[in-house]
Amino acid sequence: MRELSFQNITTDFINDPVFIEKNIEVAILRLDKIHPVISGNKWFKLQLYIEEAKRLQKKTIVTYGGAWSNHIIAAAAACKDNDFNSIGIIRGEKPAKISTTLFYAQGFGMILFYTSRDDFKNKKVPEAVTGEDLYVIPEGGYGMLGANGAATILNHCEKKYFSHFCCAVGTGTMMAGLIQSTSKDQQVTGISVMKNNNELEIKIKSLLQAEKQFRLFHEYHFGGYAKYTPELITFMNNFYKQTNIPLDFVYTGKLIFAVFDLVQQNFFPPKSKLLLIHSGGLQGNASLEKGTLIY
Ligand SMILES: *Cc1c(COP(=O)(O)O)cnc(C)c1O
Repeated sequence: MRELSFQNITTDFINDPVFIEKNIEVAILRLDKIHPVISGNKWFKLQLYIEEAKRLQKKTIVTYGGAWSNHIIAAAAACKDNDFNSIGIIRGEKPAKISTTLFYAQGFGMILFYTSRDDFKNKKVPEAVTGEDLYVIPEGGYGMLGANGAATILNHCEKKYFSHFCCAVGTGTMMAGLIQSTSKDQQVTGISVMKNNNELEIKIKSLLQAEKQFRLFHEYHFGGYAKYTPELITFMNNFYKQTNIPLDFVYTGKLIFAVFDLVQQNFFPPKSKLLLIHSGGLQGNASLEKGTLIY
């Protein structure tokens, strides 16, 4: 997409006394710098769906998400840039005041339909949305094409340099892509941002073409999806003061918090070289009350 700046992606090394003490190196892959709104990993997950929709000569793309969904806004932008009509099916009733995310999505030309939580769960397409030229992208881009797209993320760094890759996990699509694109002596560790997402492991495995070990942690959800605590917010603000790197509270804040904690617990052996994926999502911080974050 013409507005996205892949040349802006950097690998930023983080200096922290604990990393020196534990004799490990930690860097962050800044996918958040691609675009202020169309966040980090979402474009990677969307690219092959968009290509398939083109190949099938579809005219309209339908996808699903919540009111603050990074996926919805990225899909809206990708559709606009590739001359597709776009339809977003949004979880829950239409709110009195539309979220910033949905406001932007509409700005990209996306038509929004609000559905009850039950219909959303059942992936029901509203009756008004019909036609043979529809192409449906699953919620969060979950699926083989999403994972294969995410597998290209590590083309934007010195992949061979690192021994460990860590990412935040929602649907597991990005993680499956990372697992696929790393060698068998490189480890991928995922931090689930949801509470009790017990099917995650199976869902990730079902996207892998070859069997490969990976590690998932489920203890860093801070209350559940899009939930947070003062401890998380304080951590994110301190991390920003230390590094100048902004994090989002739904995904990357939890990831970086978890990595610090796992380093303290000696989860990563000495001499490990970690690459943490900054998967973007900063636009979602607009859902927080002003002043919560210092950036
Ligand atoms: C969507 C998203 C994730 C999770 O990606 P999945 O492929 O669904 O696991 C992680 N970080 C950010 C910022 C996201 O927007």
